[in-house]
Amino acid sequence: MSTTERPRILVVGGGYVGLYAARRILKKMRYGEATVTVVDPRSYMTYQPFLPEAAAGSISPRHVVVPLRRVLPKAEVLTGRVTTIDQDRKVATVAPLVGEAYELPFDYLVIAMGAVSRTFPIPGLAEQGIGMKGIEESIGLRNHVLEQLDKADSTTDEDVRRKALTFVFVGGGFAGAETIGEVEDMARDAAKYYTSVKREDMRFVLVDAADKILPEVGPKLGAYGKEHLESRGVEVYLSTSMDSCVDGHVVLKNGLEVDSSTIVWTAGVKPNPALARFGLPLGPRGHVDTSEKLQVQGTDYIWAAGDNAQVPDMVGRRAGNPNAWCPPNAQHALRQAKVLGDNVISGMRGFPQKEYSHANKGAVAGLGLHKGVAMIVMGKVKIKVKGRLAWYMHRGYHGMAMPTWNRKIRIFADWTLAMFLKREVVSLGAMETPREEFYEAAKPSPAPVAAKADGDASKAGEKAKAS
Ligand SMILES: Cc1cc2nc3c(=O)[nH]c(=O)nc-3n(C[C@H](O)[C@H](O)[C@H](O)COP(=O)(O)OP(=O)(O)OC[C@H]3O[C@@H](n4cnc5c(N)ncnc54)[C@H](O)[C@@H]3O)c2cc1C
Repeated sequence: MSTTERPRILVVGGGYVGLYAARRILKKMRYGEATVTVVDPRSYMTYQPFLPEAAAGSISPRHVVVPLRRVLPKAEVLTGRVTTIDQDRKVATVAPLVGEAYELPFDYLVIAMGAVSRTFPIPGLAEQGIGMKGIEESIGLRNHVLEQLDKADSTTDEDVRRKALTFVFVGGGFAGAETIGEVEDMARDAAKYYTSVKREDMRFVLVDAADKILPEVGPKLGAYGKEHLESRGVEVYLSTSMDSCVDGHVVLKNGLEVDSSTIVWTAGVKPNPALARFGLPLGPRGHVDTSEKLQVQGTDYIWAAGDNAQVPDMVGRRAGNPNAWCPPNAQHALRQAKVLGDNVISGMRGFPQKEYSHANKGAVAGLGLHKGVAMIVMGKVKIKVKGRLAWYMHRGYHGMAMPTWNRKIRIFADWTLAMFLKREVVSLGAMETPREEFYEAAKPSPAPVAAKADGDASKAGEKAKAS
């Protein structure tokens, strides 16, 4: 960590907003004008819209993340967690990966800590649930699903087999619908290599408390998405929720009960709970309260944006809705980050702040290979696209939105290779405990047990001696 005399711009979080805001600030900043410090517990930014494809093995997991130190060579990148902010002293406390926490002074602050999975106190959920917010979970889900097929193919116990082949997904927004679409596709493909597992033996269940899925693309495409998933054998239960899942025994409010070894939880997000310790003004659902200029209310040196902020939606407000807020998505996060970066520079130089205003451009979602939905907004016209064309639009949009050319090229290369090579369906679950085999080999061997034949031989020897 450097201790320069320059003012420090501290960016808390190196995700979508943190990465793009830091890049913008560094681009607009004069040489030596400030030190930009980015703190994140991970050393990489995760492009979350690609997590479902990474879970299905269509993209290599490493290509979905962007190393912060490589893309921000002029910034100071610290791997750790900001735990508290002291606004009076303008000091943040950083808990590094190892060692004691330390204080980091700042002059300007950017809060970009994103969101975490929104959970409820459902019995069994903490023990059984798998989230879909990070690349680790995406890799874990892929290994886990393939491992269930391995288990089902190798057991003689019908109950174990049925439980292994039942996959429950709770939450039918972008994350849930895309993940079940991709994972079902992968499992269908993988089943070709198992002698006793067929797609018909698997049960995929999607549950949502709302009366529709994919609300981001509107009711018609949402209804299409549901019918499409059902046509692939996915059971979709709407207007219901999960009451419990103790030991994998899933009980839904509508009375359905299934045993499942895989419970994927994608029922929405909530702002990072760590914000509660920062002493910043928060909205009713825990977001940092910002003005339309992305400045935290009541401050002139703190900005916030993305999933952890409640940012007024000026397009909606001008259209007559005084309670319009920007939804938490990548489309807003990216654009807010750029305005935020400009406003930090203006704030530092004493210039006026710009307002953030962005009209929704639509949404795209992939539901597995060659399947998708897309809604493009052009002024007052909404163009709805489904099927293969929508899937190409989904891939084209996200492929180009992926930060850095290095990652764009790698992702397009992954997709191109997948056109000619079969999908990789190997489970590397042992990656989660890589030292286990070596530990077994290296631990002191127990005293050898005399082999039965030897025992008999020695007895024979004893007899011979005795006679
Ligand atoms: C599976 C999935 C699919 C999605 N698909 C789409 C899509 O198709 N289209 C779309 O528009 N949006 C999509 N989204 C939403 C989109 O990815 C988010 O809106 C966007 O990432 C928000 O950016 P952010 O910077 O606010 O948060 P993030 O990108 O989550 O970044 C937050 C960062 O803060 C860091 N952090 C957390 N705590 C601390 C701490 N104490 N100190 C320091 N750093 C901390 C985290 O490690 C993380 O790197 C999807 C999300 C998911 C999960």
